[in-house]
Amino acid sequence: MDFSFTPQAEAFRVEVKDFIAEHLTPDVLESTREGTIHNQEFHKKMADRGWLNGAVPAELGGGGRDPLEMLVLVEELQLAGAPIDGMGVAVIVAAIVLELGNDHLKETVVPPIINGDALCSFGYTEPDSGSDVAAATTTAVRDGDEWTINGQKMWTTMAHIADYVLLLTRTNPEVPKHKGLTFFIVPLDTPGIEIQPVHTMGTERSNATFYDNVRIGDEWRIGEVDGGWAVMKAGLKFERGIAGGQFPSAMLIDAAIAAAEAAPREGDTTAIDDPRVREQIVRAMIDLEVARGFAYKTAFLASQGVMFGVDGSMLKLFVAEAYKKHTQWFLEMLGSEGLLSLDTPGAPVGGHIDEHFRHAPVTSIYGGTSEITRNLIAGAHLGLPRS
Ligand SMILES: Cc1cc2nc3c(=O)[nH]c(=O)nc-3n(C[C@H](O)[C@H](O)[C@H](O)COP(=O)(O)OP(=O)(O)OC[C@H]3O[C@@H](n4cnc5c(N)ncnc54)[C@H](O)[C@@H]3O)c2cc1C
Repeated sequence: MDFSFTPQAEAFRVEVKDFIAEHLTPDVLESTREGTIHNQEFHKKMADRGWLNGAVPAELGGGGRDPLEMLVLVEELQLAGAPIDGMGVAVIVAAIVLELGNDHLKETVVPPIINGDALCSFGYTEPDSGSDVAAATTTAVRDGDEWTINGQKMWTTMAHIADYVLLLTRTNPEVPKHKGLTFFIVPLDTPGIEIQPVHTMGTERSNATFYDNVRIGDEWRIGEVDGGWAVMKAGLKFERGIAGGQFPSAMLIDAAIAAAEAAPREGDTTAIDDPRVREQIVRAMIDLEVARGFAYKTAFLASQGVMFGVDGSMLKLFVAEAYKKHTQWFLEMLGSEGLLSLDTPGAPVGGHIDEHFRHAPVTSIYGGTSEITRNLIAGAHLGLPRS
């Protein structure tokens, strides 16, 4: 088995590393402290390199870069802690619009998203429908060439800085729930939209969004009326373009070793002398290699034009659960000082382990919870019956 990347992907890795060294400045990292994992200047510079366009399939008119190269991009950006939430949403929305959108959307929405001037957000989840996303109750009612939207969305991350929201609405309550949904791309400056901040324990900022008699023209609809489920599935398909590179624990391991070497224990010893601590560090390193194996496999499948489906679910589940486990181990290694948060004077590793410990649980919630992901794997991979 040959795990090496193509020469082009390795050459691209060098380009990405150089880009990071030049543009991921302390100011860019600092700008995410408020909890919005996006920096417009940095995002724009990535777009200028053609990297957003690169993740959009060539058959749709995008850059169609090899998924292995996109994996290298996301891997290096994540290892460096770069803010890339905006990038993921941008490429998925652009690809959906190019595949299913009308001319108005293709001309109005795609160019500014791909060139990094406009941002998008996802408006799927509601207070009472997250995992069961098809149970959405936000309504869109047709009135001639216009629609009136009413309802509430929860966790509309980046809505406060975005230009658009890809909004899931119910247009037919009389049919089975999957069959009565319609998507719109709604400009977030449309009258009747209110955005309220929601802060997580992981220091991220998301939003609750309210839609009160929001009127938009039919040209903002994407896909068929009551055909929203097809749009949802297209979104999942396009995630593959930026699949794989999820290594949140990786950047912590060296820091955890250094911290364990410094954390005092009985006598003259430090935490690193404790065999349990050493075992946990080695297990984290092994998990990281397993995660890489999953990630590289999904990117390889995508590069072969294969819809990887359940492999992506296994990657997501493994990475999120390993991340939670590792950050808990690392925090325990540091003793009570590990609880000191970011920038508290004397906090080990600058408080970053505590920061990651609080962030890790949300990764097992967004993009599909670990329970839902296990259900998917149980059915699609193990062939178990649905309960
Ligand atoms: C920080 C953050 C950012 C997010 N960003 C966005 C965003 O930008 N746009 C967006 O639309 N959404 C976003 N989400 C929402 C996210 O996708 C949902 O939170 C997630 O899908 C779970 O939905 P829920 O919170 O309603 O929980 P629920 O669906 O109510 O689930 C509650 C619990 O029950 C479990 N459960 C539910 N159904 C089953 C089942 N069938 N079998 C077994 N267990 C089950 C779940 O695993 C979970 O543990 C974000 C969430 C977070 C935390």
